[in-house]
Amino acid sequence: MNLRLNHLIGGDARPAANGGWLDVYDPSSGVVYATCPDGDRDDIDAAVVAATAAFPAWSALPASERAAWMNRLADGIEARLDDFARAESRDAGKPLRLARDFEIPRVVTNLRFFAAAATQFASESHSSLGMLNYTLRQPLGVVGCISPWNLPLYLFTWKFAPALAAGNCVIGKPSEVTPVTAWMLGEVAREIGFPAGVLNIVQGHGPSAGQALVDHPLVKAITFTGSTAVGLRLAESCARSLKKISLELGGKNPTLIFADASRDGLLDTVIRSAFQNSGQICLCGSRILIERSYYEEFRDAFVARVQALRIGSPGDPDNDLGPLVSQAQFDKVLGCIALARTEGGRVLCGGGALHLSDEEAGGWYIAPTVIENLGPTCRTNTEEIFGPVVTLQAFDSEADALALANATPYGLAASVWTRDIGRAHRMAEKLDAGVVWINTWMQRDLRTPFGGVKQSGLGREGGWEAMRFFTDTKNVTVALGP
Ligand code: NAD
Repeated sequence: MNLRLNHLIGGDARPAANGGWLDVYDPSSGVVYATCPDGDRDDIDAAVVAATAAFPAWSALPASERAAWMNRLADGIEARLDDFARAESRDAGKPLRLARDFEIPRVVTNLRFFAAAATQFASESHSSLGMLNYTLRQPLGVVGCISPWNLPLYLFTWKFAPALAAGNCVIGKPSEVTPVTAWMLGEVAREIGFPAGVLNIVQGHGPSAGQALVDHPLVKAITFTGSTAVGLRLAESCARSLKKISLELGGKNPTLIFADASRDGLLDTVIRSAFQNSGQICLCGSRILIERSYYEEFRDAFVARVQALRIGSPGDPDNDLGPLVSQAQFDKVLGCIALARTEGGRVLCGGGALHLSDEEAGGWYIAPTVIENLGPTCRTNTEEIFGPVVTLQAFDSEADALALANATPYGLAASVWTRDIGRAHRMAEKLDAGVVWINTWMQRDLRTPFGGVKQSGLGREGGWEAMRFFTDTKNVTVALGP
């Protein structure tokens, strides 16, 4: 029998008020294996009532007690880490290894990190002649957290943990494509008696449940991670009532490889940055730029390594890549590969769907694909694909590399590979990106600011940036006498 999920509203597990359900698919077979409440405005309204009622007590708790609750939630997930990892792997089609060794542990870390932040958060004071100023950072009230399907629980917790830590009550709207682990987290919250109404999880589609959350007048802020197209729409909605919004959007990240780069670990990391989670990570390097003198040597070695990647069932620990997350994503990526061919791209490996065993005949598998012979301004090199597809381009100088790297409307992340320290800093300064890695990829310190420029977003997450987003700043001036 199919798994049946619920919302978490006011501490209760509930179906959608309208009685609607939506199907949840196993990407490795294309078969429905769960149903999820198809929530809408009525469920959001109920969640706002519950969150509003919970806010006075939650925001008045000592920070150490809020932190203790968040740590209990982290402990509850850690105690079931294998269950969560298996569920995430099945729901999103990601290799079990990735979910178990990286994503679910990071969920636990997100909660513990922001639990600690709650107890360390401080504000400033400015003393000057005849007066003392101090700043209060006060929680906003009820806030909305909307997350995507690519790193489902990892990004969901990354958004709601700082909101709770700063004293807000949350209504979370996970992706309808991958709702299972958010529902499991809700079950853990109920088991440990997490204060009712402080964390609510409303499942459902974006245009119904998500938009109702964004438009609700009592929701004070929205943090959104997802596509640029939806993010732009939500920014317009929030502008109408001057609602605070933070946007983490798409990317088209360059990987810049200079001929002097150390070969030590280079291919391993560039393969990961291109194809981890089948390229469905906003930080993946999808445009690989290589100094011309090293181009052919790199290309041949890289393609050989890509051809050796193992694609198949996410549960098999030997597999490097699973299927794409959905039929829609599968169709989109195949369309992008077809477009690259019409634009003159030469497909060096991959280039199409993979048909595996009979059991997985309906799975959304695409072979990792490497394409060359395309210029910087074509659609393949400027539009986000979000799949296992990368392009190779050669450059002749630092200026040329920068021009290629910055030739997209996006500006999320970049990685630079060189042994020349001066050049590394010059590139880091001039790249259009909110996150730059030198001789590495995806190494994260959770205290650092995270986010993009241009069409990749607005605002920053991580550390104090997130705690500040979820608070209102008030300055108080005290006169010190005549
Ligand atoms: P999406 O924009 O389709 O959906 C994201 C979330 O928004 C989902 O929960 C969806 O239900 C909801 N949503 C959709 N329409 C809505 C509306 N009108 N009102 C309110 N909510 C709405 O994105 P996706 O396909 O789930 O995720 C992939 C995208 O996310 C890619 O573009 C990727 O680059 C981006 N992403 C960015 C980051 C980052 O940190 N910058 C991280 C991960 C993913």
